[in-house]
Parts: sequence; structure tokens; C-alpha cells
Amino acid sequence: MVDGEVHRTVVIVGAGVAGLAVGTMLRRNGIDCIILERRRREHVEARQRAGTLDARGVRLFREWGLAEVLDAVPAPEIRGGFYMPPMSAKGIHLALFAAETFARAMIAQVRDDDPRLLDAYSDTCLRHVWNYQAFATWITDLMHDTGDPSYRGEFRKQQARAELRRQFESEASNRVFSEFTAGIA
Ligand SMILES: Cc1cc2nc3c(=O)[nH]c(=O)nc-3n(C[C@H](O)[C@H](O)[C@H](O)COP(=O)(O)OP(=O)(O)OC[C@H]3O[C@@H](n4cnc5c(N)ncnc54)[C@H](O)[C@@H]3O)c2cc1C
Repeated sequence: MVDGEVHRTVVIVGAGVAGLAVGTMLRRNGIDCIILERRRREHVEARQRAGTLDARGVRLFREWGLAEVLDAVPAPEIRGGFYMPPMSAKGIHLALFAAETFARAMIAQVRDDDPRLLDAYSDTCLRHVWNYQAFATWITDLMHDTGDPSYRGEFRKQQARAELRRQFESEASNRVFSEFTAGIA
């Protein structure tokens, strides 16, 4: 190493949710990395990022030995505490999905010299992002359409109400809806 130069296996740009998560996952698995952040540490530590996590996020932190993170984040509750809309927590969900996918790929590359997960990284993440984008757009439009008929008319309002009812009355529809809400689809 030459003076002033730092060598790391992985360089992560951005100490946001994804960057900090992937950095922690890699370091706990013995892969050295450095995180470059353009904002000051005090700013990053003080700004708000997540109020809620979906079930997949909770599982992820537990599986990677990071359960202490959960002490700072309220888990979604249906009864009692607060109601979490079905399209909520998907920002963190997507950031953590990408972080975990990349960490697993990097571990396979470094430990087993296996590049297959890294090669598939973009396709894997984009497929997931569009799947959740489609769900978020669908449920947001649906909920708007069930309300004020001046929005998209009485005909669409009644259709939307039927569609929303089906999410709770049909076991098959409810299962898909619940999987997206929990983030395990
Ligand atoms: C107020 C607020 C509340 C939220 N609440 C929730 C919630 O309850 N649940 C939920 O799921 N989502 C929530 N979100 C959304 C969630 O925070 C984002 O989806 C998530 O932070 C995205 O993670 P990220 O790592 O991709 O990006 P970020 O967290 O934005 O991190 C990106 C980082 O990269 C840095 N950076 C950018 N460019 C460079 C560069 N060129 N060089 C160096 N560093 C760079 C930035 O400064 C930043 O620190 C909330 C967002 C906000 C703003």
C-alpha cells in the first residue's frame, strides 16, 4: 500500500439505508469495505429515514444478526398500536432487498470465487422493484378510486369497492395482498 491510498474489496457510495446495511452485512462476514458519504456524520445520524419496517425487513435484521436495529423501529401492528397502509415501508424494503442481494452475491464471489449472483444482481433487483412498484401503484389507485366519485366516476368507484372487498373475502386474493403488505411476495 502506498501512503495516502486505501485498498478495500468493496467501496460503497452513500451511507443511507442500503449502504449502511450492505456495509454491516459484509463486515460481519469478514469482507472489508469502506463507505463514502458526501454528508457529514452528524447529518446522517440525525435525519429521519424509517418509521416502519415490513415483515421481510424484520426477518432480514434477525437473520443477519442485527436484531438490535429493531429496538429503534416500531414493528407494524394491525390491532392496537397503529395502522400501517399496505403500500408503506416499501422504500426501506427495496433498499434492504438490494443490500441483501448484493451482500449474498459479494460473499459468494469472495469466498467461493462464484460470480453468478453478482452477474444476476441487476436483473434480480429490477424484477423485484417493478413487482413492488406495480403493487404500490395498484393499491394506491384502488384506494383513491373507492372514495370520491368525482375522481374517476361512480362506475369506477363501485368496481374499485368490489375489488377491495375481494382482497378480504377471497382467500386467494387475500394471500397475494398479504404477501405484498408483509414484503414477502
Ligand atoms: C422522512 C422520511 C421518512 C421515511 N419513512 C420511511 C418508512 O417509515 N418506511 C420506509 O420503508 N421508508 C421510509 N422512507 C424512505 C426510505 O428512507 C428510503 O426509501 C431509503 O432511505 C432509501 O435508502 P437508500 O440507501 O437507497 O437511499 P438513502 O437513504 O437516501 O441514502 C443515500 C445516501 O447516499 C448519499 N449520497 C448520494 N450521492 C452521493 C455521492 N455522490 N457520494 C457520496 N454519497 C452520496 C446521500 O447523502 C445518502 O446518505 C422515509 C424517507 C424519509 C425522507
